[in-house]
Amino acid sequence: MANKDKESMMRDYKAIFEKAYALMNEPIIEGNCGALCGYHCCRRTEPDGERLGMYLLPLEYEYMQVDKAKELEVHTNLIYDMPPRIKKRYYIYCHEEEGCLRDFRPIQCRTYPFEPHIENGEFSLVVEKNQIHACPLLSQPEIWRPAFIEGIYEGWLELLKIPIIKYFTLYFSQERVENANVLMQYTHEGWKDSYEKDKC
Ligand code: SF4
Ligand code: SF4
Repeated sequence: MANKDKESMMRDYKAIFEKAYALMNEPIIEGNCGALCGYHCCRRTEPDGERLGMYLLPLEYEYMQVDKAKELEVHTNLIYDMPPRIKKRYYIYCHEEEGCLRDFRPIQCRTYPFEPHIENGEFSLVVEKNQIHACPLLSQPEIWRPAFIEGIYEGWLELLKIPIIKYFTLYFSQERVENANVLMQYTHEGWKDSYEKDKC
């Protein structure tokens, strides 16, 4: 790729990430949901003392976190399972001293409990059955703010313009379908089937 094309692509990807961070900046409910669960999805250790961090999306470190993430591990495909075209993933830890840098929290913090899903060419947001977080809000989707849902939906549509993120999403969507691992689904028409907000 010529240098000029590379610079232009880098500008585009940076703009996409910045737009996604802005769209995905709405709280899931009115008030502080962490007070409901003791900040369960922000916990830094398991009860057995194991440290917990979070994975960044492909290119998220390079475009958004390179000067923000202070403690990180680089996980490679030599040791960790990952989609074949992904060679490494950044696993970062929340800031020990400064706490949550809210304006720069990663996509994974913003999108939870939704995951992006593409099935038969259709994009949707899903909540998986297999959860590592015991989020009390999963049983109350009727109180999720529409601005949160729409922000996450539109934010992912932005991110999917980046080919490696679309590949990544397709890979995990297929895995999810094969394992029947969908608990709830939100499409461009709203909540699917029994998960329509009014019926919850
Ligand atoms: S587990 Fe659920 S309720 Fe608790 S902080 Fe995370 S999103 Fe909020
Ligand atoms: S970056 Fe912030 S929102 Fe994300 S896990 Fe850490 S404390 Fe929670």
